[in-house]
Amino acid sequence: MTANTTDIAIVGGGVVGGLAALMLAKARPDIAITLLDGSAPGQQDPRTLALAHTTLLSLQSVGIATDKLATAQAKIEHIHVSERRGAGSATLHAKRYQIDALGQVVSAHTLQQAIEQAAAGCSNLSWQMQTRLEQLTQQPAGVDLTLHTGDDTTTQLSAKFVIGADGGRSVVREQLKIARQQYDYQQTALIANVQLDREHQGWAYERFTEHGPIALLPIQAQQMALVWCVPSSDAASIQSLSDNDFLAQLQQAFGFRAGRFIGVEKRASYPLYLLLAERAIHHCCALIGNACHTLHPIAGQGYNLGVRDVVDLVAMVTSAWHSDQGGLQHRDLLAYEAQRQQDYQRIAGLTDSLVRIFSNQHFPLVAGRNLGLLALRKQPALGYPLARSAMGFRNLFGAA
Ligand SMILES: Cc1cc2nc3c(=O)[nH]c(=O)nc-3n(C[C@H](O)[C@H](O)[C@H](O)COP(=O)(O)OP(=O)(O)OC[C@H]3O[C@@H](n4cnc5c(N)ncnc54)[C@H](O)[C@@H]3O)c2cc1C
Repeated sequence: MTANTTDIAIVGGGVVGGLAALMLAKARPDIAITLLDGSAPGQQDPRTLALAHTTLLSLQSVGIATDKLATAQAKIEHIHVSERRGAGSATLHAKRYQIDALGQVVSAHTLQQAIEQAAAGCSNLSWQMQTRLEQLTQQPAGVDLTLHTGDDTTTQLSAKFVIGADGGRSVVREQLKIARQQYDYQQTALIANVQLDREHQGWAYERFTEHGPIALLPIQAQQMALVWCVPSSDAASIQSLSDNDFLAQLQQAFGFRAGRFIGVEKRASYPLYLLLAERAIHHCCALIGNACHTLHPIAGQGYNLGVRDVVDLVAMVTSAWHSDQGGLQHRDLLAYEAQRQQDYQRIAGLTDSLVRIFSNQHFPLVAGRNLGLLALRKQPALGYPLARSAMGFRNLFGAA
């Protein structure tokens, strides 16, 4: 067994942990950072992410050319929200807020590659794949990590500070015995890229059905990313349908507003649940991204929230890290956690309410949400906080 040391260890090199490593390495070249990821190089995340305006700005700040991550047709210029069998529908338009787009759509895999490429130029960052955290032991002035590597060996790494970015089933969170609130929506997201018989012209769609929401995001002129949330009890049978039968069932559920579905590829599925860790920090440790909060994808907010974790954590470490005093003080972590609470509560609350309100067939709620969508259509100013949320702003009622 070999023993090593580092200043900051980041467990999990997905789109959140990878970005944290890149931003930290650039902000503080004097700090040694080690990123550990259990997966093998080249594994592809099939998800497509709608990136909010503020997320794009964060990526650009570390040299990621966001306009190269996707085609020019992958911009969300308009959003159409509607309910199947309901009278209400509403639209949001980027131009109304004097911006080019409400968000940009990218494949998680392409984004991951761009982050890894940008990180390759940071000499203070060691990015280690096929290195899985197995055990974490807190010491008075740091943390000891026991790792299992791809060549079947066990190594030790000691860090002054550990960031857990290891996703919804976080081993860091589990080892720290941080409790979590978890709610199973009993829905599964079926994702795919679908081909349409006409161009989307910058529209994204969110359609609420009695079984769960369906979202379509623009990726190519006639191609859209699908997130189709179905009851988990139906997911396996829908996934086993042939492509033609899958498209026929989707067409029936979504309708023809976006056109006719004529092709499908890259089908995958994700069970959906809400998870909120009760603490975002512990002695010499912090949790970010899905390790701290895993949300329903209904509003496309999970990654955007994770990026704001990264931005705030990096700002705190940049100003509070003193190598001669052992790194960070616990009060710095407490201040970081207090700063993040409002954002977690707001986004988790918004996302969870949308799922529950639109999944409920109780008459007063059906009538109320139809009235809400109608009001949004008649009074566009009501869409302002919604649009700011889609763009990733923390203050929904602030100046544009
Ligand atoms: C269907 C769907 C659609 C979505 N759409 C959107 C959207 O449009 N917009 C948006 O903002 N968000 C969206 N999200 C949410 C978004 O995908 C997540 O918030 C984001 O991917 C979380 O990234 P992460 O890096 O925190 O976690 P993960 O992507 O889960 O990465 C965790 C990493 O940790 C590694 N790891 C795990 N355990 C260990 C271990 N023990 N040791 C070492 N490494 C480990 C894994 O290999 C992995 O690389 C969507 C989610 C779903 C399910």
